[in-house]
Amino acid sequence: MTGPRPVRAPRGTEISARGWQQEAALRMLQNNLDPEVAEHPDKLVVYGGTGKAARDWPSFDAMVRTLRGLKQDETMLVQSGRPVGVMQTHEWAPRVLIANSNLVGDWATWEEFRRLEALGLTMYGQMTAGSWIYIGTQGILQGTYETFAAVAAKRFGGSLAGTITLTAGLGGMGGAQPLAVTMNGGVALCVDCDPRAIDRRIEHRYLDVRADDLDHALRLATEARDARRPLSVGVLGNAAEVLPHLLAMGAPIDVVTDQTSAHDPLAYLPLGVDFADMADYAAAKPAEFTERARTSMARHVEAMVGFQDAGAEVFDYGNSIRGEAKLAGYPRAFDFPGFVPAYIRPLFCEGKGPFRWAALSGDPADIHATDRAILDLFPENESLARWIRLAGERVHFQGLPARICWLGYGERDKAGERFNEMVADGTLKAPVVIGRDHLDCGSVASPYRETEAMRDGSDAIADWPLLNAMVNVASGASWVSIHHGGGVGIGRSIHAGQVTVADGTPLAAEKIRRVLTNDPGMGVIRHVDAGYEEAADVADRRGVRVPMRET
Ligand code: NAD
Repeated sequence: MTGPRPVRAPRGTEISARGWQQEAALRMLQNNLDPEVAEHPDKLVVYGGTGKAARDWPSFDAMVRTLRGLKQDETMLVQSGRPVGVMQTHEWAPRVLIANSNLVGDWATWEEFRRLEALGLTMYGQMTAGSWIYIGTQGILQGTYETFAAVAAKRFGGSLAGTITLTAGLGGMGGAQPLAVTMNGGVALCVDCDPRAIDRRIEHRYLDVRADDLDHALRLATEARDARRPLSVGVLGNAAEVLPHLLAMGAPIDVVTDQTSAHDPLAYLPLGVDFADMADYAAAKPAEFTERARTSMARHVEAMVGFQDAGAEVFDYGNSIRGEAKLAGYPRAFDFPGFVPAYIRPLFCEGKGPFRWAALSGDPADIHATDRAILDLFPENESLARWIRLAGERVHFQGLPARICWLGYGERDKAGERFNEMVADGTLKAPVVIGRDHLDCGSVASPYRETEAMRDGSDAIADWPLLNAMVNVASGASWVSIHHGGGVGIGRSIHAGQVTVADGTPLAAEKIRRVLTNDPGMGVIRHVDAGYEEAADVADRRGVRVPMRET
């Protein structure tokens, strides 16, 4: 079989690989392409515009075959979604090493990337698409929930009740926005040009209702706001048209952000183009399409700046829309901040970030058991407990049951070791994979997003993600990846990921202790080095060694 077909990870304890480490990589690759998980599985696209799990179907088949035969002392090498080698290594080495979308600096443009992609030489790996640890929209839900909680704390007394948040983009990641807003008590007005995206979020209970048109949407939103009732409303439209229109009519908007696929101009619908024609037009005339998309983004961002001038809380949600608007010549594109310097960096200083895990058994009861373990391990952390309880009630699993919560240095290793014990003693029916987003405290250089406005100006220094990947390889992770261009697009980021399998063995316990200490430790030292006192305090309190602070 070499063409598109439905893919789904096997469940249960019977394995087709030679061990659980390999089986885990196999199931997570397959899980990324599960139609419940992936946005466009036939094209191997998982999320984030064109973020793929494998370069093409023959590469996918070769990876499945190779993982099944891979020994405990072998490592499969993946170059942009294609398996290119198997090397003898050793038991502590990762079973898979992945490099996706990397290009030499001067060549790191979308144009060159697309040229190479058309030749079949590379693919866009996004962050967790090509590194096989995407867990559906829940993955981003918790980060989005945290961000809106921070907005509420900063501007609205700790709750979004009685406010309206305007945003666009209800795709794989952006689809988390409506639920994150309602979980914080607010009203969300969400624009998307794809009716399927709206319907899919309603089906997964991330979005409450679909309005007939913009007037209807605004009426529903203001009624709910006046009643201080949480509600999310989806409305069909082009954000570059809808936002200026809402601004001009003086719509009562309190918070504005955006998660259209602006990082990739070929995935942003330009003004005056029908959604039905978008894919063909982008493929036929990419340069013209890009120019029109950028001009439309400039109008979109201009409206966002207009809302900020009118007093709304406005932030870029990590999709590069300010950068694209600037390229189109809009001078005030960077008048509003990115979400990391505005809300997230203090968490990064503590080594906190999006820790996640998936149950290879396929049984939701395994995740519920791990939820209880988290509540038991960190009883003092109220917001974590609130999240775990809400997630248990509200999150619809996509593909293998999974959970995410933000944990910091000194916490992730505790959770990982507990999960490994639960596999060993039979509390869990099968092993668990433990990974994270590449959007983490010490794993990414991305000057428009995670490393925007670093205190020492080191925004574009990309040594950190490379060190992060190397330390995870050296610490015993099960698979490690280095990607370029995730989140914000080609030329704008370099980032690394790791996944470690809790298979219940003493060896896994040793690896987990090291990986889940050193990985968030990178976040602490990265921020100490950049001059953040909060990070230095964490390092001193927790004993993270920083040679330049030792005498
Ligand atoms: P996606 O491709 O799955 O969805 C994008 C959505 O935008 C689609 O539903 C599309 O129909 C819609 N869209 C495109 N142009 C539009 C327009 N002009 N008007 C209205 N809707 C339009 O992408 P995704 O995975 O949801 O990611 C969205 C963006 O968010 C990406 O740029 C991604 O890199 C970024 N992102 C940010 C974070 C974060 O932590 N802040 C995390 C992940 C992704």
